[in-house]
Amino acid sequence: MSAGKPSNFAKIHPVLYLSRRTRRGEIFPMKLVILDRDGVINHDSDQYVKSPEEWKPIAGSLAAIARLNQAGYRVVVATNQSGIGRGLFETDTLIAIHEKMFKALAQVGGRIDAVFFCPHTNADNCECRKPKSGMLREIAARFNADLAGVPAIGDSMRDLQAAAAAGAQPMLVLTGKGRKTVDDPALPADTLVFPDLAAAAAHIAH
Ligand SMILES: [Mg+2]
Ligand SMILES: [Zn+2]
Repeated sequence: MSAGKPSNFAKIHPVLYLSRRTRRGEIFPMKLVILDRDGVINHDSDQYVKSPEEWKPIAGSLAAIARLNQAGYRVVVATNQSGIGRGLFETDTLIAIHEKMFKALAQVGGRIDAVFFCPHTNADNCECRKPKSGMLREIAARFNADLAGVPAIGDSMRDLQAAAAAGAQPMLVLTGKGRKTVDDPALPADTLVFPDLAAAAAHIAH
């Protein structure tokens, strides 16, 4: 493993902490959307996305994130990146990939507030690798957010299972592995299904 010992969580984009309490002490509902990355924002690859060159956005996905932002939603990514744990690429490369993603997003007026990633493999038996809900619970803690009703959008069963386990609203997109996932009998019962991120964003930000 050439990537060294990865820490349990890494946040690679500055997060703005906002007070969500009014003077009377009410808590604003957090307008938050959690996204999987590969197969949702960008095209997935069985060989892993392991360089900025290999990161290619799915048509309409960046504009969809901008649309969510314009509707007042903060967008956070939770992504399994076991390619790091397998030694296929370094954390620095993942950061470079995300810099490309942030730049492409900025060009359409979109913003991702934070990327949470799990660098581990199955063998590490960590709490963050989806289908476990560790990353989503960490997002809830960092953003002081209740995940009830928060859309968690993914293309794989493990994304939806993590969403359901964290009490978020599972949403499946049919990009990436989504067309396979939709036929899985283990799909959480309350999963909403959309053709792609653009359609999901249109539903959320209508
Ligand atoms: Mg995916
Ligand atoms: Zn992990």
